[in-house]
Amino acid sequence: MPIVAVIPKPNSPVELREVPEPELEQNSALLRVELSEVCGTDVHVQRGRLEGVPYPLVPGHVSVGRLEKIRGEIVDVERRPFSEGDRVTFLAVHRTCNSCWYCLVAKASTRCPQRKVYGITYGLDDGLCGGWATHIYLKPGTRSIRLAGQSETFMAGGCALPTSLHAVERGEIKIGDSVLVLGSGPVGVNAVTLAAHLRGASRVLCIGAPETRLAAAREAGAVATLNIDTHDEAARLSWVRAQTGGRGADVTIEATGAPEAVTQAMRFTRDAGTVVIVGQYTDHGDVSFNPHLDLNKKHLDVRGCWGSDFSHFYRGAQLVSEKPELWAGMKLNSYDLENANAALSDVAEGRVLKAIIKP
Ligand SMILES: [Zn+2]
Ligand SMILES: [Zn+2]
Repeated sequence: MPIVAVIPKPNSPVELREVPEPELEQNSALLRVELSEVCGTDVHVQRGRLEGVPYPLVPGHVSVGRLEKIRGEIVDVERRPFSEGDRVTFLAVHRTCNSCWYCLVAKASTRCPQRKVYGITYGLDDGLCGGWATHIYLKPGTRSIRLAGQSETFMAGGCALPTSLHAVERGEIKIGDSVLVLGSGPVGVNAVTLAAHLRGASRVLCIGAPETRLAAAREAGAVATLNIDTHDEAARLSWVRAQTGGRGADVTIEATGAPEAVTQAMRFTRDAGTVVIVGQYTDHGDVSFNPHLDLNKKHLDVRGCWGSDFSHFYRGAQLVSEKPELWAGMKLNSYDLENANAALSDVAEGRVLKAIIKP
């Protein structure tokens, strides 16, 4: 029988349960999980800080495994059918409708009200829909991607890679730009990699903590880093200016989760520059800024960035298999299902860069 790690309700520890194997619908599959990610979102889910989460819930929204059973036919984006035994990952976002106003008129499918996310808005009552488990049920319509390389290679990018791909895309970084990344978690470090090696930035800077994560940011391509714990806002601002000809960064990507980082991102960016906000995935409260000084007079372009779509996930999977060396510094710490609580607390405390469950 499949085993799942469940968050029974907000602020409760994860517990293991045995559940019956699902009856497969036509054009669906059962995935034997090899690895599933533990990310900051799971910490928020466990603490009840995310809206629309149905408990009990099996976390894990980015996973890799082998197709154990297929009923009917499932195909990839090039219409090639999958076979049992194939190693795949799949887009956690399911049921994007492609028929609502957001999907068709705004072309912003990440705001589709119909979308459901494995491990976040699908609960245990919806079936085997989270990755911290021996098995995941890939419902009809789930978009799988074939993986050529090792599971670990893909997980080095993990769920942070599509998110940061989307943020870098929103930032419209130009060749030769200076890019400032606020935050040195997986999204921040991935944004450094993309900006420095694949998007043509001349200088990538990163402000974050702790020192081990800043070392990862430098390995990913940051030319200079600054520790947030030992430098206040004024010190950060003068550091950024000293690194950017006195002007501030051309593009700043905020990937911290701290509301005050949003105003700092605006202040650390040059006049007529671009700011992308991707780190405010949960509600940590309000922050105030001066609309004249921080926004209008600076002629700033400030953009939000919510989630990611299939294109980001697909491109991310291609990139890690084509250029695995760019993710070699992304250290993975693995935990078995029994130690899911330890994984959560290590991620919450920033003791590891990236944690994965290996059931
Ligand atoms: Zn829609
Ligand atoms: Zn995630």
